[in-house]
Amino acid sequence: MRLSHSASKNRAVGRVCGLLWLAGLVAAHAVVAADAVREFRAGAARGDITPDLGIMIVGGFSPFPAKHVHDPLFVRALVLDDGRQRLAFAICDNLGMPREVCDEARRLTAKATGLPASHVLVAGTHTHSAGSARPSLGPATDRPGGALVSSAELNGYQQLIARRVADTVQCAINNLAPARIGWGAGNLPGQVFNRRWFVASEANRRNPFGGVDQVRMNPPPAAPDLIKPAGVTDPEITFISVQSAEGRPIALLANYSLHYVGGVPANAISADYFGYFSSRIEELLGAEKQDPPFVGVLTNGTSGNINNIDFRTKRPARAPYEAMRAVANEVAAEVFRAAQDVKYHDAITLDARFEELPLASRRATSAMIAHAREVIAKPAGAPVWHPNERIYAERVLQIAELPANLTIPLQTFRLGDLGIAAIPCEVFAETGLELKATTPFAKSFTIEIANGYYGYLPTPEQHQLGGYETWLGTNRLEVEASTKIVVALQRMWAQMRAETP
Ligand SMILES: [Zn+2]
Repeated sequence: MRLSHSASKNRAVGRVCGLLWLAGLVAAHAVVAADAVREFRAGAARGDITPDLGIMIVGGFSPFPAKHVHDPLFVRALVLDDGRQRLAFAICDNLGMPREVCDEARRLTAKATGLPASHVLVAGTHTHSAGSARPSLGPATDRPGGALVSSAELNGYQQLIARRVADTVQCAINNLAPARIGWGAGNLPGQVFNRRWFVASEANRRNPFGGVDQVRMNPPPAAPDLIKPAGVTDPEITFISVQSAEGRPIALLANYSLHYVGGVPANAISADYFGYFSSRIEELLGAEKQDPPFVGVLTNGTSGNINNIDFRTKRPARAPYEAMRAVANEVAAEVFRAAQDVKYHDAITLDARFEELPLASRRATSAMIAHAREVIAKPAGAPVWHPNERIYAERVLQIAELPANLTIPLQTFRLGDLGIAAIPCEVFAETGLELKATTPFAKSFTIEIANGYYGYLPTPEQHQLGGYETWLGTNRLEVEASTKIVVALQRMWAQMRAETP
């Protein structure tokens, strides 16, 4: 596409100059073409994906129908073009879209725009107050078994998301203009807390399989038996900043390893702190009244075991939306501060890789299956070991019926000396930090819940500790999955590093 653009430019030059200075024109032509091929361009756009009222909201413990839209849901797209390759980010205000929705969105985008599907990254922000992109009214993706539902046919809302992704990427392409790009990083440790804790009391660590774990997810805040968090946090906010050649902000895409914030009244639709971040960073950059509009995006980092609850203290009650707005304001302020130091480049190298990684599904042991049958056979009203033991017993028996192997989509982007990884899971902070520490690029970050949804991704060490995210039925990939994913992403990054000039 770049070539046809420069060819038409050169035809115009030819018409003006005629044949008079033919030799000189040929030389000038060569220079123009070389410059034009390396010209960096960027475009951004957003498209509305707010569902109809009545759709099921699936982020909570049980799905409930939407009765109010507090703030609209968007897909926010950023397209980058280095003159040779073009990449697209399409970040959707959704809890997490199953594989078939992301595949369809990438397929439609490729068909409409000519972008290879490998170069299109589709991810959910992980707001827990969005309409369900699941095939049915089944449990939420975050909930036991939710990721196991599958459907050959997309429902109306799934189709709308897929079409809107393709349209919005097309609009971002329509907005492509000469641009410059840079990246930076800030730090915001005060809003990230590991939600898995060692707790003294055995009753607080029971699991639904009749056993006792070493750790407990989301212990009651300020509980007397808290010992210490069972893992790390990643306080970094990494971001890409894109400006027009004249310095006008085009887009800013940030990445923070914090789950959703919440505080949304029941039955209301909201993009959570991801939406508030978009408008706040636009205000801070003074980019509110632009044409084409500025697009601010907050992507979800590796936040599978991270939320913003300080478990050592009791939280004061907050008004609806108050906490998410406060968090978004802090994230945006830190990005704005760090953005003052960004070094912009007029030309960078872009590249992408996309692979299917074969993995085993996690299986139930025969002891777990026997226990599940006992739980299901219990008479109503019999004492329970764990309040959710029956739900998990059903999941254990369902999982025994599923195929033993699957593949998951992995994707990497290269933006100059910045590496990006995309994983279709709720990734633990430990894995994100490992990828950051081992990237062959100057800097990297990971976008989670990308190109599909395959549940939580604890490390093998975290699997040993137990806890909600590791429970079979919440978790569905083999215990070694995170290790294999890290190796594959490092290899994909290394390939791009070696193969692209
Ligand atoms: Zn979640």
